[in-house]
Amino acid sequence: MTEGNCVLCGKWGPLTFEHIPPQCASNNKVIYVQKHEHLFEENSKLFGKKMRSQRGFGKQTLCASCNNDTGSWYVKDFCEFSKQGLEVFTANTIKEYVRGEYIIKPQNVLKQILMMFVAADSDGAVGQIEGVREYLLNKDNCNFPPDIKIYLYSNSSSHKRLLGYMTVWDKEGDQLVKKQWSEINFKPFGYFLTHNSPPPNPFLVDITDFGSTPFDKKMIVTLTTAHLVVQNPMIGYYKNVES
Ligand SMILES: [Zn+2]
Repeated sequence: MTEGNCVLCGKWGPLTFEHIPPQCASNNKVIYVQKHEHLFEENSKLFGKKMRSQRGFGKQTLCASCNNDTGSWYVKDFCEFSKQGLEVFTANTIKEYVRGEYIIKPQNVLKQILMMFVAADSDGAVGQIEGVREYLLNKDNCNFPPDIKIYLYSNSSSHKRLLGYMTVWDKEGDQLVKKQWSEINFKPFGYFLTHNSPPPNPFLVDITDFGSTPFDKKMIVTLTTAHLVVQNPMIGYYKNVES
C-alpha cells in the first residue's frame, strides 16, 4: 500500500484511492488515463502512451479517515447534481449553451467539487490554500476559502483532464500573466478552480456562490453553462473557444 502525507489533513500514513469524480457519477468503468509522464516527459518509456485503469478515474492521495468522512458528507449530493446534469445535457437539443433547473444542495455540491480538486493534486498545494482544510474537514463550516473560485461548464468530451494545481503563464496582450489553476472534466460537466487568478475565458460560470448557502439546504438553482470541448491536456484550452 502506498504511504504518504494525506493531501487534506497532512498526516502521514497509508493512502486510499479516491474516485474523481465519485463512482456514483458514472466513474466506475475501465478508462484510459494519460498522466504527466505520458504527456510531457519525452525521455520516459511511457511518453505518448496511455495507461489502462480498471478502477475508473482517480488518485491515491487521501488518508482513509479524510476519504471516508468527506465521502459520507458530500458524495451523495454531488452525484445527484451530476445525475441531473446528465439529464439536462441530454434534454438540451442546442448544445452551445445548456440551460437547466437543478434541485440540489448547493453547499454540499461545492464542497465535493473542492474535495475533488484537493484529491487531484498529488503535491498537496490545493489542500494547503488558506481555509481549505477547515472548510472541508468540518461539514458545517460554510466559510468558503476566500482566494478560490470554482467555475462550471458543460462537457461531454472523451478526452479528460485531471489536473492538479498548476502555475500557468498566460498571454494577455503583450504581457505574460501568472495564473494558478486546476481543472477536471467528466461528462456532463467540467470544473475549473482559480486561486487568486482570473478564469481562462468569460464563458465559464462562477458557482462559488453555492458556498453562501447553509449545509444540507436543498434549493432550486437555474444554470446556463457553455458547452466547451476538451481535446488536449492543456489546462483552460477548448476547441470551440478562441484563446
Ligand atoms: Zn487525511
